[in-house]
Amino acid sequence: MAADLQHTVAKSAGLDGTSLHTGEKVTLRLQPAPADHGIKFKRTDLQDEPTIDAKIENLKTVERATTIGEGAMRVHTVEHVLAALSAMGVDNAVVEMTANEPPIGDGSARPYVELIKKAGLAQQESPRRVFAVREPIHIETKGGSLLVVLPDEKFRISCTQVGPEGRFTQFYSTEVTPAIFEREIAPARTFVFYEDVQPLMEKNLIKGGSLENAIVVRGEAVLSKEPLRFADEFVRHKILDVIGDLALFGARIRGHVIAVKPGHGPNAELARALTKEYAKAIPSTPPRAFPAGEGGLDINQVMSILPHRYPFLMVDRIVGFDSETKITGVKSVTINEPYFMGHFPGHPVMPGVLQVEAMAQVASILMMKITKSASRLGYFISADDVKFRKPVVPGDTLFIHAELTKARANNRLAKAKCHCTVNDSVVSEGELMFTFIDK
Ligand SMILES: [Zn+2]
Repeated sequence: MAADLQHTVAKSAGLDGTSLHTGEKVTLRLQPAPADHGIKFKRTDLQDEPTIDAKIENLKTVERATTIGEGAMRVHTVEHVLAALSAMGVDNAVVEMTANEPPIGDGSARPYVELIKKAGLAQQESPRRVFAVREPIHIETKGGSLLVVLPDEKFRISCTQVGPEGRFTQFYSTEVTPAIFEREIAPARTFVFYEDVQPLMEKNLIKGGSLENAIVVRGEAVLSKEPLRFADEFVRHKILDVIGDLALFGARIRGHVIAVKPGHGPNAELARALTKEYAKAIPSTPPRAFPAGEGGLDINQVMSILPHRYPFLMVDRIVGFDSETKITGVKSVTINEPYFMGHFPGHPVMPGVLQVEAMAQVASILMMKITKSASRLGYFISADDVKFRKPVVPGDTLFIHAELTKARANNRLAKAKCHCTVNDSVVSEGELMFTFIDK
């Protein structure tokens, strides 16, 4: 697979319109930006034209729309333009605006898609930052929203929209590509329930709102200037908002987002959870300075103790003995391991049983050390409470920890509590029992 490269807009392009909340005239202009710049908003109406990163750290409020800010500066309702930029493949751009909110257009992301197409895309040299989700990431709110991201080869969203009293409950599931976004998601307009907007209209908080830029649902009636664009337009718009809010995460998602009753608050919470997990997933722990000499054993010393050889030697070195009964070994997991050819093609995962074997090998090194005898062979006779918590993949550094809980030199049985970690989180564990026989 070729590396997925970053893109910016090929040239500057602008769009005029009205802001939803203030009703002011506003011009929005996309400008090209260098690789690794990300999306930034620029307020050209303010002194010194401040810019702000469209990043989750700058999130300020999620009431009705997503607002980012820094100091006193605010940029409201960023979700539709961010959805269009992200889904159409723009990684880097400056979004210049002459007001604190983008033009609302027709309440959909279609005007932004057209704007991006007018500007064109330009490929850049740097690869995209991609988060290939490995294990479920989920958030849940008191309001009954539930969002989960599951591992998937593609970026997919499956969404359920539930209106008040279950009205207009809809479901839609799709992969998100530029072509699908443009055709199926971008045209879906903002919708509001009359009971929610009536108090806002009374307080004059949505000066720019009209039936030209939103669909209003009153009871069972759907009010809008233009008829519904899709029978399930509401849930499609919910997906549009999920894409826009998750764009604040900043990296491309390879995963399946399942969203039940999403909203700007829950979406932002998921963007935060993704940011946290992504930081953990970047292999930041290795390379670690491994102690040599007295503290540990190098591969030659390990091989002088263990009879195992490639491809069945599951430990590269012992990094330390802690007290008399604890040991830590390490194994670099690379794509060259023979088992990845069949486990599984296209989706390499280290088999859990080999992690148990690694625990057994590390524990038996400790055993040999305690009995000061390499003249006996340890036979692994049982494994209890074995749990595989997280997948281990090529590029991981597996730390294998074992603690002897029962071992007597004259006794032929030993027990060890073991666990393996990657980036300081436990990936597998188990309690092993051995018996010893003389060589
Ligand atoms: Zn929206």
